[in-house]
Amino acid sequence: MPSKEAWKRLAQNQAWREKNRAYMREYTNKTRREAREAAILHYGGKCKCCGEIRFEFLAIHHLNGGGNKHRKSLKLSGAEFCRWLKNRNWPEGYGILCHNCNGSHGFYRYCPHDKEREIASESRDPFFKLDHLPYTNSN
Ligand SMILES: [Zn+2]
Ligand SMILES: [Zn+2]
Repeated sequence: MPSKEAWKRLAQNQAWREKNRAYMREYTNKTRREAREAAILHYGGKCKCCGEIRFEFLAIHHLNGGGNKHRKSLKLSGAEFCRWLKNRNWPEGYGILCHNCNGSHGFYRYCPHDKEREIASESRDPFFKLDHLPYTNSN
């Protein structure tokens, strides 16, 4: 039987460990977030397809395709990949896409925004020339 003192210490220890675990989780989330933010800002800060700027929606995108394969070959998580880019002084060949556009490009090899942009550029309807439509931005 452990002594009363020992029990107390153990309980305190557990509380400490729990607190510490929560702290560590928060800390890694924060550093991950910072790594992602830095990379996203460096590569333009918005989806180059639809102009989405909320960084939670954004992801680094390999411009020549094969980004996932490349990343997997490096065995890096998303945030680690962001750090990898930073450590290499932001190599060329990467851009920002939001998860919608990135997913569509990955899955269908095109984004519906491309088609909408095409329609908008051909249309003489002034509705398509309005600035509030993301796909009328050429960038
Ligand atoms: Zn997008
Ligand atoms: Zn798009």
